Amino acid sequence: MASDNSNTTVFVSGATGFIAQHVVRQLLDQNYKVIGSVRSTEKGDHLKNVIFKGGDFNYEIVKDISDPTAFDHVFEKHGKDIKVVLHTASPFHFNTTDIEKDLLIPAVNGTKGILESIKKYAAQTVERVVVTSSFAANTSTVDMFYAKDSSKTITEESWNQDTWESCQSDPIRGYCGSKKFAEKAAWDFYNANKDSVKFKLSIINPVYVFGPQNYVEPGKKILNTSSEVINSLVHLKKDDPLPEFAGGHIDVRDVAKAHILAFQKDELIEQRLMLHAGLFTTQTLLDIINEQFPELKGKIPAGKPGTGNPDDALTPVDNSKTKKLLGFEFIDLKKDLYDTISQILEAEKNSN
Ligand code: NDP
Repeated sequence: MASDNSNTTVFVSGATGFIAQHVVRQLLDQNYKVIGSVRSTEKGDHLKNVIFKGGDFNYEIVKDISDPTAFDHVFEKHGKDIKVVLHTASPFHFNTTDIEKDLLIPAVNGTKGILESIKKYAAQTVERVVVTSSFAANTSTVDMFYAKDSSKTITEESWNQDTWESCQSDPIRGYCGSKKFAEKAAWDFYNANKDSVKFKLSIINPVYVFGPQNYVEPGKKILNTSSEVINSLVHLKKDDPLPEFAGGHIDVRDVAKAHILAFQKDELIEQRLMLHAGLFTTQTLLDIINEQFPELKGKIPAGKPGTGNPDDALTPVDNSKTKKLLGFEFIDLKKDLYDTISQILEAEKNSN
């Protein structure tokens, strides 16, 4: 039986997102009341009346988190009820020529803004805040991929070394910088306001998040940035050049679980939880896809099977501290890819 959480209201920013939808789904499964922020009435109604129909889900509109007061009306209205805040909203795309405006400012203002709104309207009611940061705040992924350093190990204590200026050299680096500066803003606020707010802070630092969508939008061909890594491989033609992907992977269902444990378990207060189940390269992904999906074999590239060991390409990572704190096994890459791609192929079959 689900535990009695029906008197606890959790606010989830960016509720339409890939990760956030899984978070909301798991919260509703555990009987929490959920208020999500969305950018339009249309998106909110779709979540409430279709995707989360039957669950205790309501929404508020927050159009643009670049506005430092964007969350004020949410906490002015619901501040007395909200006990837990999960801040997931942040731009995750590389489609910009103005990195400061499109990535850095919304990420940082969104994080500072939601914490300021809590302080203004819910300083003594919100008990726990979980901020979705990223592994990109631990290291610029550009450094991890292209500047492999075997003498280093990236851990929960590591920080991306880019500055506000240096991260603006390209959009991937800019996104990584946006996550670093947003997370730093959360810690700075927390450390400066311990006497004026009640809440305790936890941070989630996931690597590339794969896994099935919570809800398949009929006809949607381009997925969110991390899912698009897998979606793009499945749609390559046999002789297409291989894209250069490499990094750590984690399944979205585990990411959602960690967000919820982060506010349920006291041991997770003031921790940076580095969600990382293992490393991959384009070749390791192709090897698994070709083995698991005979219907794709011969249609997509094979690359050079058995080569492309990620340990040869990437700076080592040690997240044993996080694994011990969370206490559950992460979904492995084979299952993660199997569930992700089965859903993509099934959706395409249904749309034909
Ligand atoms: P999505 O793009 O699916 O979700 C992003 C969410 O943020 C959406 O709800 C989006 O709204 C909202 N959002 C973006 N920009 C703004 C803005 N300016 N104003 C208001 N809302 C905004 O991404 P994910 O679910 O993958 O990412 C969620 C969080 O997890 C982000 O903080 C991301 O940085 C972090 N993360 C993701 C990883 C991954 O591999 N997926 C890895 C590590 C961290 P809308 O739907 O209307 O666009």
